[in-house]
Amino acid sequence: MLDSPDETPMPTETIFSKIIRREIPADIVYQDEQVTAFRDINPQAPVHILIVPNQLIPTANDVTPDDEQLIGHMFVVARTLAAQEGIAENGYRLLVNCNRDGGQEVYHLHLHLLGGRRLGPMLVRQN
Ligand code: 5GP
Repeated sequence: MLDSPDETPMPTETIFSKIIRREIPADIVYQDEQVTAFRDINPQAPVHILIVPNQLIPTANDVTPDDEQLIGHMFVVARTLAAQEGIAENGYRLLVNCNRDGGQEVYHLHLHLLGGRRLGPMLVRQN
């Protein structure tokens, strides 16, 4: 329970913070002072990399104007990694899931970089 309606709960660390601090293993493909990129443990495509801000931002809803440079940097890292992985020419998908309806599982903002095959339609229509 919050003490007052104005009080914002402290964001809770996820497993991604431990990966960023290299406390648990992950296949880290890039890291700088702002972001860490590592291969998804359950890849949905031949290339599936997560680009994660080092600072904890739980969801896309928590992005503020102060984060504009950081969010742009995540895209620059994504396109650089796409080129390194050899998927830039054929194409790839960048994806952010937000909260329950978006299918978010880990509450530490991350950009999925997916490629290496034809990914098909973006969404499967279910209704
Ligand atoms: P979301 O559904 O939140 O957008 O995606 C979370 C992603 O994180 C999933 O694709 C999942 O496979 C990946 N993931 C969850 N835990 C770990 C982990 O411990 N290590 C790595 N490398 N990926 C993880």
